[in-house]
Amino acid sequence: MRKKIVAGNWKMNCLLEEGQKLTSEIVHMIKDEPTAGVTVVLNPPYVHLQAVGRLLAGVDQLFLGGQNCSDKASGAYTGEISAAMLASFGASYVIIGHSERREYFKETNELLTEKTKQALSNGLHPIFCCGEPLEIRESGSHEAYVKDQLTASLFGFTEEELKKIVIAYEPIWAIGTGKTASADQAQEMHAAIRNHLAGKYGETVAHEISILYGGSCKPDNAKEIFSKPDVDGGLIGGASLKSRDFVDIVKSF
Ligand code: PEP
Repeated sequence: MRKKIVAGNWKMNCLLEEGQKLTSEIVHMIKDEPTAGVTVVLNPPYVHLQAVGRLLAGVDQLFLGGQNCSDKASGAYTGEISAAMLASFGASYVIIGHSERREYFKETNELLTEKTKQALSNGLHPIFCCGEPLEIRESGSHEAYVKDQLTASLFGFTEEELKKIVIAYEPIWAIGTGKTASADQAQEMHAAIRNHLAGKYGETVAHEISILYGGSCKPDNAKEIFSKPDVDGGLIGGASLKSRDFVDIVKSF
């Protein structure tokens, strides 16, 4: 059985006290409400990792993650944060290749391979993001586009390494726009991704990889999207900043 995962990407939001309040609320709801069997990951800004990590301690279901890491192990890279640093703060996951990083920070497929290597060699599970812009969707070449992203960044990894990676399919036109992919569109792409992984690593490995959907996922659409056979959870942006909405999404399986 592959893992069901809901990960919250806070992006550059929440001052310290707001992040602590949000985390405490989520911790209480997860303890009090039936959400068993779902791995929940909070990805706050780096500067809140320690405070958020302390609040998550002792709740088996809740994990800490970074939103990014350096492609380098250590050294004179002012402003960068290494995967080893994230691990030393208790992180278990790290988002790699979010479309905002690809677009605004010009992160390439090759750079994302290096970041993924850093994450894996420090015991972190990469949440590797892929997804097409609107014009590619409209041209009908979205499957090929996403497969190329995965081939370019991930197909050099061994089977054992790949099994530690979580894929997040996030159509860029659905991120933060309120315009979600339909459950059928999500399923179609997730199945194509799993097929593509199977072509390289075999069916058994492909069936072990969790593939999350991201893009305007909310409590009112999560249930339908998560009901699809190849959708194993969600990477949640905006709705992860509201404890009630986020936990309702966690409860949508
Ligand atoms: C994201 O940025 O990963 C995301 C899915 O954002 P939103 O849920 O706000 O669309």
